[in-house]
Amino acid sequence: NGTALTDLADLAVLGDQLVGEVITPSDGARYDEARGIFNAMIDRRPAAIARCENEEDVVRAIRFARDHDLPIAVRGGGHSVAGMSLVDGGLVIDLRGMNTVTVDPDARTARVGGGAIMSELDRGTQAHGLATTGGRVSTTGVGGFVLGGGAGWLDRAFGLACDNLLAVDLVTAQGERLHIDEEEHPDLFWALHGGGGNFGVATTFTLRLHPLTAMTAMLLLWRPEAGPTVVRAYRDFLESAPDRIGGGLLYCTGPPEEFVPEDMVGTLVCAVLITYIGHEEQARDLAAPLLRLGPDAEMINELPYADLQCLLDDPPGYRNYWSAEYLDSFPDQAVDRFCRRASDMIVPSPSQHVLFPQGGAVTEGPSEYPLPWRASSWIVHPFGLWDDPADDARARQWAHDTRADVRPWSHGAVYLNFIGREGRDRVVAGFGAENYRRLAAVKAQYDPDNVFRLNHNIEPRPP
Ligand code: FAD
Repeated sequence: NGTALTDLADLAVLGDQLVGEVITPSDGARYDEARGIFNAMIDRRPAAIARCENEEDVVRAIRFARDHDLPIAVRGGGHSVAGMSLVDGGLVIDLRGMNTVTVDPDARTARVGGGAIMSELDRGTQAHGLATTGGRVSTTGVGGFVLGGGAGWLDRAFGLACDNLLAVDLVTAQGERLHIDEEEHPDLFWALHGGGGNFGVATTFTLRLHPLTAMTAMLLLWRPEAGPTVVRAYRDFLESAPDRIGGGLLYCTGPPEEFVPEDMVGTLVCAVLITYIGHEEQARDLAAPLLRLGPDAEMINELPYADLQCLLDDPPGYRNYWSAEYLDSFPDQAVDRFCRRASDMIVPSPSQHVLFPQGGAVTEGPSEYPLPWRASSWIVHPFGLWDDPADDARARQWAHDTRADVRPWSHGAVYLNFIGREGRDRVVAGFGAENYRRLAAVKAQYDPDNVFRLNHNIEPRPP
């Protein structure tokens, strides 16, 4: 299928050069398995997948692709909604084998392989009573997540994931290896705090860790009629909640769990998830304003952080479309629009009509990074997962309508990890125009040919 015979011979040579392996279409089911990503809508056929095991493999794979004019996709956890980690007819640099997590408990740091997923990071740090901000599910790749900014249950207390990024080992488009931190290549260090996979292949991240010994999760469910009251109460609660409180509010399909009344299973419900760094008793006291509203179902538990990370794990294999709007305020009119639009979501399905709070260390964190959205107080995030291709247009429409409903309260800044391909203006809005110019200059220095372009692309432009 398109790969010339000479290329196949060359690919075999690449395979011999790597500690890892090269998988091609001739590998049949293994190839199909290796090119599978989270979003089942994306079906691309790379010429080959280079499963790298170490930095030298990455160097070889980049040089090979450039010598053969093959476009490169870099695969971490494979969770980008637009399928940025897959490319038709090109070379996928697959980092999944580079997933080692080494914790230094005294320094409170972790060195994390560029292809590790969240559960590998969380389980590794938890063994030492430590944690850092991770994504809200256990299967996301640390790579795409951290490089884009990284928001999760702990961010109001510990900052965004990238606020905890101390160093990166990176292979550039020229196959050069760089160690990057605040002192070495400070321009690149800055750019890697939000700029995504634009600047090279990150083979190791060094992350700051925080003590975390007790964690409580409260999942409170209401029938959807209560939504407008619950959302208002949740908003008011969060606006003065301590930073140790995280979580979100989501309309979703009632899960088939023992604590959920039968008539709520498989139907639209309004759910509040409160996460608390601390013990259950304190969590209950703090959440009293919400508990007083009398949830129709509740599950309240102390649990290890790495287990909390699996609580809302979404299944792979569904069709995906998501978007996001970042709000500076969330007045009653916005609440009502948000609640009304929930009924357009496909139910039953794993889709979620989400409201996430920011605030705390997200809003107050380092303002120098190219992340203008961190100043917003709320995120409205239609997160669509569905089964039937016949529902594609409906799912997209719901996401677009949800954004349009709340746009009057947005300044337009957006976190790019929460959206697919929505055009260049949205990419610029993800960084802010001035930051974008500075990022483009860094890109021109380290990747002038835009070799790494399968991402929210920053076009190289010398200053
Ligand atoms: P990939 O598709 O493998 O990569 C995404 C991009 O990053 C690509 O451009 C890729 O080339 C680049 N990349 C990945 N690894 C590297 C590397 N080591 N070096 C260089 N470039 C690299 N985001 C949040 O902030 N918070 C959440 O709570 C959250 N929850 C999510 C839940 C689900 C179910 C899903 C599907 C996504 C979620 N996301 C969340 C979004 C997620 O952070 C982004 O989709 C992110 O890009 C995924 O990274 P990945 O490595 O898994 O993806």
